[in-house]
Amino acid sequence: MAYVITTGCAGVKDAACTEVCPVECIHDAGDQFVIDPGECINCGLCAVTCPVNAIFQDTDVPAEHAASIARNRDVFL
Ligand code: SF4
Ligand code: SF4
Repeated sequence: MAYVITTGCAGVKDAACTEVCPVECIHDAGDQFVIDPGECINCGLCAVTCPVNAIFQDTDVPAEHAASIARNRDVFL
């Protein structure tokens, strides 16, 4: 279980989520920020901070953003 950043981040990238994450597991991946699923502790602080609601728990990612789960995870393989 981890939170996932979807493509809604691209074009905004204000890094607000990185400032509230207690374990510093959110990283700039170029086109968007991504979350390391091995480090995320599921606190949800990033999701409530994101101005464009681009962050979801992996079990709640909207179908149209399903590819974002791998987009986040694969950065850290
Ligand atoms: S849910 Fe918490 S630990 Fe996970 S990325 Fe967001 S702020 Fe960091
Ligand atoms: S708060 Fe939202 S828009 Fe800002 S960097 Fe994080 S995911 Fe991207």
